[in-house]
Amino acid sequence: MTLIAIIGDPIAHSLSPAMQNAVFRKMNLPYLYLPIRVTPGELPSFIKRIKNDRSGITGFNVTIPHKEKVMKCLDWISPEARAIGAVNTVIFKKGRLMGYNTDGRGYLRSLQEKTHFTPRRKRILILGAGGAARAILYALKNAGAKKIYVSNRTLRRATKLTRDSIPLKAKELEKIFPSIDLLINATSIGLKGTRFKNLPLSLLSKRVIVSDLIYRPLMTPLLRDAKRRGFKIHPGLGMLLYQGAESFRLWTGKKPDLAVMRKALLDALERNQ
Ligand code: NDP
Repeated sequence: MTLIAIIGDPIAHSLSPAMQNAVFRKMNLPYLYLPIRVTPGELPSFIKRIKNDRSGITGFNVTIPHKEKVMKCLDWISPEARAIGAVNTVIFKKGRLMGYNTDGRGYLRSLQEKTHFTPRRKRILILGAGGAARAILYALKNAGAKKIYVSNRTLRRATKLTRDSIPLKAKELEKIFPSIDLLINATSIGLKGTRFKNLPLSLLSKRVIVSDLIYRPLMTPLLRDAKRRGFKIHPGLGMLLYQGAESFRLWTGKKPDLAVMRKALLDALERNQ
């Protein structure tokens, strides 16, 4: 049996074990995917154990709070993960730890499958400037977007990512809302049903797609408001699915059964809610 892990702190509520184990089982692959709580202080010793080959782990996912810190511990980092500044997938092969980032690709694939949106020549606004925002900014830029604004509560973090940075204030957002083709929430607002206070949604054009990275709940208050106004919406579960599918492909070299993964995610969400 080959072991794959997901490390983070906290980790108990991760949906990835259900998703990956379901597809390993369905495809008769001898893999087991385990959630392991690794606190920030424990990260170096966890990595050391893997490198000493004592754990039996041949790959792992990385989630909050280790996506950036883990980079220092790896032997090789893909150009994509390096540009994003975060790693979410690691392979251990021939004594070397290799890091990748599948979040940006996962987002793009999900967006295209669900909405048929092509970023080329489009104007996009990302709310948030954390790790997830950086991954999708990189993916959308590479896919040929014409303009990508980043708006964040802490403006300094957005300014680090782009010159097109904007304070997360209604007055500022009002200036660009009418011109954008895609609005993406990459902040934590929406988790557990929390909502934005001052988004000028009435100024968005009819063609806009409203996308939310949050998947718990599946329909965030932002997506509900957008749907009510008749906009096309893109929920966050697809990104979780496709980043996982891409990690699966890196570990196994095979294409996963996406329907099995999607169903496992939905079932796990229902159980956890
Ligand atoms: P980070 O902690 O790196 O970034 C959090 C972001 O949210 C920052 O921009 C932060 O702004 C902003 N924020 C937090 N609280 C508030 C608030 N009260 N008001 C305004 N802004 C706020 O997290 P990630 O980038 O990793 O994740 C962001 C979201 O994306 C999470 O909710 C996560 O669930 C979701 N996600 C979904 C994935 C998927 O597969 N669907 C994958 C990864 C993430 P500031 O800089 O000012 O603190």
